[in-house]
Amino acid sequence: MIAISLKNYSISFQDINILSDVSFDVKEGEIFTILGASGSGKSTILRSISSLENDYTGEISLGACCLKDNINSCATQNIGYIFQDYALFPHLNVQDNISFALKNKSRKEKESIVDKLLKQFDLTEQKYKQIHELSGGQQQRVSIARVIAYEPKILLLDEPFSNLDSLLRNKTRTWLKNLIKELGLSAILVTHDKKEALSISDKIAIISNKKIVQIGTPKDLFFNPINKYVAKFLGAINELPKEIINDFDIQNSKNLEVLIRVNKTYITKKKNNYALKLIDISYCGDYYELSFEFVKHKDFLITVLVEDISNIAINNILYLDIKSKDLMLISK
Ligand code: ADP
Ligand code: MG
Repeated sequence: MIAISLKNYSISFQDINILSDVSFDVKEGEIFTILGASGSGKSTILRSISSLENDYTGEISLGACCLKDNINSCATQNIGYIFQDYALFPHLNVQDNISFALKNKSRKEKESIVDKLLKQFDLTEQKYKQIHELSGGQQQRVSIARVIAYEPKILLLDEPFSNLDSLLRNKTRTWLKNLIKELGLSAILVTHDKKEALSISDKIAIISNKKIVQIGTPKDLFFNPINKYVAKFLGAINELPKEIINDFDIQNSKNLEVLIRVNKTYITKKKNNYALKLIDISYCGDYYELSFEFVKHKDFLITVLVEDISNIAINNILYLDIKSKDLMLISK
């Protein structure tokens, strides 16, 4: 079953086109991520799905219900919207923030729902605290608890982790993914963070130049990017001279670019056709980043990550060590 569907969605603000011909389906129970640079229109899509932005062309449907035709009868109350800045009420304590949306319930019912959520979200001790007394991570959990309290079926998550530090971000991300799966929700997450997208999503759509350029599972996109933009957006790559494929059993009839992921690029001291000269060593904490130039193709710079540099020095000649299965042939 399809939970949310966009068909040929396009939107402009003051005659400036922001997005063109965007189409995708989110299946029930799926975490669907829209990944794109800042300003690419991600929040605008979420605002349109939740009917805050209605001046678009094309169609948005919740299940079988087209929002434009039946805005009042579509189940928009099933949508929970979680914002980057939490949007909590600063003058209410944790308990009152969470119970705010439970208007039609009795006091007893409200209390029981809130207590259950506080327990589930590890916030029981914060029940009577004011919002400013909480850490960023706790505030984000309150904002999610407040949305979950009214039992949405669809979650729209607008960069929900961007205000958290990196350790907390990883922890909260895993926690939220498990929560979404446990509750069987359908979710659209928007982010500009590739790591977030790759780790949490069932499917990812990448926006570039006002359009969705590719939709697929994280592994589809990572290993079979449709173009160089997608390949670069999802992880560091090295561009290799085209001649290299002559030595591998690969056809390149369409004259495509030859790329390899940095984490699949190795060096060896054993001689081969691909001599590299070491031109820079950067210390990066857990590893060193080495920059090489091809001896025969000086305009190609290659990045290699290593843990140990005890036997190498600037100007050393080493050799590229790659496997044909790791080469990616894609269009510009
Ligand atoms: P993202 O969430 O990907 O960073 P947004 O969807 O917020 O991007 O915005 C996309 C573009 O649309 C931006 O250039 C932004 O300035 C513009 N924009 C968004 N909302 C409005 C609006 N209500 N009026 C005019 N321009 C807008
Ligand atoms: Mg945004």
